Amino acid sequence: TIGMIALDHNGNLSGACSTSGMAFKMNGRVGDSPIIGAGLYVDNEVGAATATGLGEEIVRICGSHTIIEMMRAGFSPEEACKKAVERIVKRNGLEKARNLQAGFIAINKQGEVGAYSVIKGFNYAVHTSEGPYTKDSKFLV
Ligand code: ASP
Repeated sequence: TIGMIALDHNGNLSGACSTSGMAFKMNGRVGDSPIIGAGLYVDNEVGAATATGLGEEIVRICGSHTIIEMMRAGFSPEEACKKAVERIVKRNGLEKARNLQAGFIAINKQGEVGAYSVIKGFNYAVHTSEGPYTKDSKFLV
């Protein structure tokens, strides 16, 4: 999945998400990426979020929308992404969670960026007016 979220010079948020889905998926499977609220959500008053990983788990918690609501409630983008990851881990239990990946990135209206994933291995790129950088997200299990 390629998920992109942006804040422009006028303070407007946007997002996009594209995926090839899961390997060996069932014919007709719909993952999280094309479902607004799951793989992508943008609220121009609050922030934007997008997801990658096991779509079924992301859909079950309405991942990207959950993150927006967490940011609306005052959590930073990283804290909000962590909350979504915690829900996935709680639903699955630690053992199962160790064998699945879901990662989120988020940006708020102030331009703060954050990310979190279930397990190690989720990297993301940020481009600011100072230039680009890449980062390994924090992970929960
Ligand atoms: N999220 C995608 C899906 O479940 C897979 C991916 O992130 O590569 O369809």
